[in-house]
Amino acid sequence: MTSLRLPLLESVFCAVSLGAIVLDGERRIVLWNTWMVRHSGLEHEQVLGRDFFEVCPGLRGGRVDAAIQHALYNNFPSLLSQTLNKAPFELFMRGERVQQAVEITPIAVEGAPRHCLIQVSDVSIAVGREKLLREQAMVLRSQTFSDGLTGIANRRHFDVAMEKEHRRAKRSGTPLTLLMIDIDHFKAYNDHYGHQKGDQCLIQVAAALAGMLKRPCDLMARYGGEEFAMILPETDIDQAMLMADAIRARAQELAIPHERSSDASQLITVSIGIATQKADAVVEIDALIGSADRALYQAKRSGRNRIATA
Ligand code: GH3
Ligand code: MG
Ligand code: MG
Repeated sequence: MTSLRLPLLESVFCAVSLGAIVLDGERRIVLWNTWMVRHSGLEHEQVLGRDFFEVCPGLRGGRVDAAIQHALYNNFPSLLSQTLNKAPFELFMRGERVQQAVEITPIAVEGAPRHCLIQVSDVSIAVGREKLLREQAMVLRSQTFSDGLTGIANRRHFDVAMEKEHRRAKRSGTPLTLLMIDIDHFKAYNDHYGHQKGDQCLIQVAAALAGMLKRPCDLMARYGGEEFAMILPETDIDQAMLMADAIRARAQELAIPHERSSDASQLITVSIGIATQKADAVVEIDALIGSADRALYQAKRSGRNRIATA
C-alpha cells in the first residue's frame, strides 16, 4: 500500500455509515471508526491500543467473543444475526439502543498475526418494520375470527371450532352440546328504540352470555344477526339444560327494557334451542345444527323466553 492511498482508506473507513473496528492478533483495538465514536460515546484515544474486552466488558464470554476467536485463530468469518444477538454493543441513536447485525471477518496482515474486522450495522429500521408486520398480522388474524360489532367469535370461528370439537367428541367418545340462542322480538326492539340502541343491546347480551363460559374449550359465537351459538364439549343433555336455563335467566337479569316485547316482563329475553350429540350416537355437524335450530323454533312457538330440546 502506498503512503498516498493509506490516508484515503482511513477516511473511507471513518466515513462509512456502519460501525467498523479492527483488532490485532492480541485482540487490541487498532481501528475504531467515527460511526463507533458517535454511537458509543467512546473517543479514539479512549479505545485505541486497549484490549477489546476492557473496552466492551459486556461482550466477554458471549457470541461476539467466540466469533472473534474463530476469526483470529481459525480464520473463519461469522455473521451474528439480529434475532439471536439483539444488540450486543452498547450503541445508541436518538436515545434508543441500536439494533445490530454483527459481522466478524479475519484479515491477513503481512508479517504480523492475523487481525479481524468487526462490522456493526444498524438494523433498527428493519427490526421495527418486522415488529409492525408481526403486530399487524396478529390484529388481522384476530379480526378474521371475531365479530366486528360484539367482539366475540364470528361465524367463521364457530365453523372451525365446531369441526374441531365434533372430531374430538367422536375420537374421545364424549357428548357434545350445541345451543342456539336468539333474542326475542328483536325486530320490534330495533323499530322502537332504533338501530343504534339495537347494536348496544347486542353488545351487552353477547358480553354477558360469553362471560358465563368458564372452560377454554367452550365457545360462544355470533351466528348471525341477533342469533348466537354456543359449543359446549363434554356436556350431556342434563348439564346442557342447566346451562341453557342459567343463560336464559342471565339475559333477563340484564333488565334491558323492551316496551314492545309481548313478554309480560317487558325486558329483553332470549329463547334457546338445545341439541346434544350423545357419546354413542355421533351425527353430522349439519344435523346437529339443524336439531338445535328446530329446538329453537319450538322454544319460540311455545312462548319465547324459554328453552327447548331437540
Ligand atoms: P323472534 O322473537 O321470533 O326472534 O323475533 P325477532 O324480531 O327477534 O326476529 P326477526 O328474525 O324477525 O328479526 C331479527 C332482527 O334483528 C331483524 C334485524 O333488524 C335485527 N338485527 C340483525 N342484526 C342486527 C344488528 O347487527 N344490529 C341491529 N341493531 N339489529 C340487527
Ligand atoms: Mg329474534
Ligand atoms: Mg333470529
